[in-house]
Amino acid sequence: MPSWNCTCGRQIPYGQIPCPDEWLFMSDFDFDRFSGQVDAEAVYSSMSSFLKCHPCRRLWVFWNGFSAPPEEFVPAKAASAPHAVLA
Ligand SMILES: [Zn+2]
Repeated sequence: MPSWNCTCGRQIPYGQIPCPDEWLFMSDFDFDRFSGQVDAEAVYSSMSSFLKCHPCRRLWVFWNGFSAPPEEFVPAKAASAPHAVLA
């Protein structure tokens, strides 16, 4: 089963269907191409995915599909937590 190693050390599996750690999204521009009744598979194939690491709340956005490395987004509180510990 494919997985992604989060910076916090958790291994996020994303091969499960449906996947509890995977979120789907698309831009408003891309969504605007659909109207009326739509084919769910067509909508699905137009979306991108991100994985959410629940323990640390990081998001790993796969802008270009799962064959390219994702971009990491860290919640502001998690990013500043080491500073808070030092203060
Ligand atoms: Zn994590």
